Amino acid sequence: MSLFQEIALASGDKYSQPLGLFIDNEFVASSNGSVLVTTNPATGKQITQVHAADPGKDVDEAVKAARKAFKPWKSVPITEKRDLFLKLAQLVKENTQLLAQVESLDSGKPLHTNAYGDIDGVVQTLTYLAGWIDKTSGEAFSPSPGKLCYTLHQPLGVVGCIIPFNYPLSMMSWKWTAIATGNTAVFKSAHQTPLSILVFAQLVVEAGFPPGVFNVISGEGGNVGDALVRHLGVDKIAFTGSTKVGQLVQSHAAVNLKPVTLECGGKSPLMVFEDADLEEAVKWAAFGIFHNMGQICSGTSRCFVQESKYEEFLIKLAAHVTANFPVGSPLGEDIVVGPQITKAQQERVMSFIDSGIKEGCRVVLGGTGLPEVIANDAVLANGYYVRPTILADVKPHYKIAQEEVFGPVLAVGTFCDYDDALRIANDSQYGLGAGIFSQDIKKCHEFADEVESGMVWINSSNDLDFHMPFGGVKMSGHGRELGKYGLLNFTNVKAVYVNMCKL
Ligand code: NAD
Repeated sequence: MSLFQEIALASGDKYSQPLGLFIDNEFVASSNGSVLVTTNPATGKQITQVHAADPGKDVDEAVKAARKAFKPWKSVPITEKRDLFLKLAQLVKENTQLLAQVESLDSGKPLHTNAYGDIDGVVQTLTYLAGWIDKTSGEAFSPSPGKLCYTLHQPLGVVGCIIPFNYPLSMMSWKWTAIATGNTAVFKSAHQTPLSILVFAQLVVEAGFPPGVFNVISGEGGNVGDALVRHLGVDKIAFTGSTKVGQLVQSHAAVNLKPVTLECGGKSPLMVFEDADLEEAVKWAAFGIFHNMGQICSGTSRCFVQESKYEEFLIKLAAHVTANFPVGSPLGEDIVVGPQITKAQQERVMSFIDSGIKEGCRVVLGGTGLPEVIANDAVLANGYYVRPTILADVKPHYKIAQEEVFGPVLAVGTFCDYDDALRIANDSQYGLGAGIFSQDIKKCHEFADEVESGMVWINSSNDLDFHMPFGGVKMSGHGRELGKYGLLNFTNVKAVYVNMCKL
């Protein structure tokens, strides 16, 4: 199989898609000849196939390349590292059109309302990280005369980065924190979305990054991902994905006690109090679950409304979603809701809707069955679409309120007072995000203090800022990405004692 293939884009242009494994700044063939097929979720048609890594030889080659590059990369002056990041950010910006189209093709993200935003996020993240590179510092103090103590923030070595399908480039860019802090890395792309990261890899070479600093292997998680997790030459794993796989990663990484950060699943609550600005609550509730087709780890997928405003909220929400979240081809200019990532995921989401109905939920919007505009389109009918769905009268213990659906399904129920709201919000195995809508600032801060989550949104949902740490507690994982806290997850804080006294 060749290492590049010409692929036609929506714009009519063609581009050359790299297909190989990216090791030591070169695209190379899989040593065992295995391939990974990738499909366009919008149409169900195969796009192409890429080389899949051999879990033994190729994973080892990638780790060795990263190991060889580690010491030289560690000693590159910080201003040079910073400039490389800035150059890369600039190249991503210049290639936004291409990257966004590839991302949309491979993941089904609506091009105009979603994929372009993701690429802009990658530019912002790389620029943000560039800003940290020449500012990382330790602490120094003298506890007594003749004694000096200081700390060094040093890279760990080779980091294995495992990324999910829902934000392929964007989640990848967050993990560039590893490289910004002086580590080298082997990235395992999501098995459903291997294409955009390989296009991005060409920009890494063009920016001037030395060979081996950034490597990419494609393949299935259970073999290629697992081989990376267990590899004795890998010093840390940064994983983003489901809780089920996160548990495996944590236990298999124990082979050499490598540290792991786990960004896993969620079932984030959004609590709307009767004193809230209801119009705003409706808009954010919709954004918090229907953007990116509900494939958002921190999506506020369960919403509870204080009883007196419940019916009004539902009516307004259904009207807002109907008007502002059109479903269709990811290439449509106004389309906000594209397909789910795979047929299996489409069926899984439908079965959750079904089970919600069986449990006693009222369908306020959507439901099972294809959206009409899709069902009547010969090409799109083979894609993996699900209608934005609002299920009402949900009780906190229902499956639909407890399990992560990872699709465009919002479970809505009621609460009576603050204590009830807090109890419901914390009644979950997950603890990624939590939102509150109220005009009472005291109540909002109390909630922020008491809710069991890594992030809290007061009068919004899924607000994101690169300066802020992202991550969860409970079964949503541990460790943080982004912000100053994110840097610490990729460094060894070494304590140095300098003695200038005689014993
Ligand atoms: P997934 O767990 O199926 O896969 C994630 C990655 O792990 C993929 O690259 C996959 O190939 C790999 N993988 C699978 N099995 C593996 C194994 N045994 N060992 C090593 N790697 C393995 O998740 P997904 O379906 O790609 O993504 C959706 C999930 O990710 C959701 O649960 C979502 O909440 C979560 N997610 C979390 C965050 C966060 O920041 N907390 C962000 C995005 C997605």
